Amino acid sequence: MKQRLTVLGSTGSIGTNTLDVVARHPDRYEVFALSAATQVDLMLAQCAQFRPRHAVMASAPHARLLAEKLQQNGLDTEVLQTPDALETIASHEQVDAVMAAIVGAAGLAPCLAAAHAGKRLLLANKEALVVGGEVFMAAVRSGGATLLPIDSEHSAIFQSLPEDPATWARRVDHILLTASGGPFRTRDPATLHAVTIDEACAHPNFSMGRKITIDSATMMNKALEVIEARWLFDLAPEHIKVVIHPQQIIHSMVQFKDASIIAQLGTPDMRVPIACGLAWPERIASGAPLLDFTRLAALTFEEADARRFPGLHLSWQALAAAPGTTAVLNAANEVAVEAFLCQRLRFDQIHALNLATLETVLPSKPDTLQDLLALDAQTRAVARELVQRFN
Ligand code: NDP
Repeated sequence: MKQRLTVLGSTGSIGTNTLDVVARHPDRYEVFALSAATQVDLMLAQCAQFRPRHAVMASAPHARLLAEKLQQNGLDTEVLQTPDALETIASHEQVDAVMAAIVGAAGLAPCLAAAHAGKRLLLANKEALVVGGEVFMAAVRSGGATLLPIDSEHSAIFQSLPEDPATWARRVDHILLTASGGPFRTRDPATLHAVTIDEACAHPNFSMGRKITIDSATMMNKALEVIEARWLFDLAPEHIKVVIHPQQIIHSMVQFKDASIIAQLGTPDMRVPIACGLAWPERIASGAPLLDFTRLAALTFEEADARRFPGLHLSWQALAAAPGTTAVLNAANEVAVEAFLCQRLRFDQIHALNLATLETVLPSKPDTLQDLLALDAQTRAVARELVQRFN
C-alpha cells in the first residue's frame, strides 16, 4: 500500500526536498495534499507533477489565483479556501503521513491537528514544537501519532538513541547537538552591528529558507533546537549540550553513561533526514551523494562563543522559566528576524529585542491551542512595539 502524504509548506526548501525524495519512489508514496502561502507558479507545477487531491494557499488572493490557473491548465486539484483548510489536509482520514514544513508558529495548528488525528508526523517545523511544548506532546500521546524528527540534528539523535525510550534515562548521560556556527563563526563580535542582510543570508553549507538562515547566523536556530530536543526526547535541559562543528558531517551525538558516544554522520543534504523520516524504519534512496571520507580534510569542533552568539543561552533560560516562555521567545525571534530582513532592526539588535520581549511578556501556563495562539499574538504585538523603540 502506498503512503498518502500531505506536505505542508511544499514550496519551501524542506517542501521541495521532500517532493524530490517522493518523486524517486512513486511505488511507495502518493501526494494527497500540498500547501504553500504565496508561490503560485511553483505550486501549480507541483500540482501538475504530483496530482494532489487538494491544495491550500495561506494567502486568499494567491489561493484564488491558483484555482484559476489550475482550471486553465485542466488540473483537477481542488483549492481548499476555508479558514481551517490546513487542519483539514493535515488530519484527513485518507492521509497517512504529514510533512510539517511550514516556517514559524503558523504551522502549529495543522501540526496539532495531525497529532490529534494520530498521523505519522514528520516534523521540520521546529517553531511549532517550541511554541506548543507540553500541549503539542500531549496531543501526540493522546492522538497516538508517531512523531519523527526531520531537523538533521534531531534525526541524528533519534537514530543514535537506544530503540526503547524507557531505557534512555538509565543509559544516556547527555546529547550533543552540533552546529555549523553559521557565517559569523570567526567574525569579530564587535562588528556584528554592521552585518548586512546578504552577509547574514550566506550560510556556509546549506541553502535554506530565509528565516532559518538568519537563525543560523545568530545561532537562535540552535537555541530553538535545544528546546525542540527537550520535548522530542523528554530530556532535562541540562542534559542537552551544543558544540560547533563547521563541516556539518556529524549531525549530532549521544553521550552514554559509560563514556561511549554514538553519532550519526552523512552528507550535509536535507534529503537524508527527510528520506529517513519518510521510510523509517526502512531505508530508501534519498538522492544525496555518498560521503567520501578520503575527501574530508578534517572534522573540527569548538565551543560557541557567548559574546558572538548571546541568543544561544536563551533556550536554557526559557526552559527554566514559566511554561509558555519558549512560545514568547519564539514569537519575539520571528518578529526580530522579520524586522531585520525589512531593515528595521540591526543584526545585533535581534538578541536585544528577544531579551527585552522576554522581560516584558510574563506568560501564564498555556493549556490549549487557543492559549498558545493568544500568547503568540500578545508577544508579537509587544515585540513590534519594541522594534519601534529600537529605531
Ligand atoms: P521556507 O521559507 O523555504 O519555506 C516555508 C514554507 O512555508 C513555504 O512553502 C511557504 O510558502 C510556507 N509558508 C510561509 N509562511 C506561511 C504561513 N504563514 N502559513 C502557511 N504557510 C506558510 O522554509 P524552510 O523550508 O527552510 O523551513 C521550513 C521549516 O523547516 C522551518 O521551521 C525550519 O526551521 C525547518 N527546517 C528547515 C531546514 C532547511 O534546510 N531548510 C532544516 C531543518 C529544519 P511560500 O513559499 O509559497 O510563500
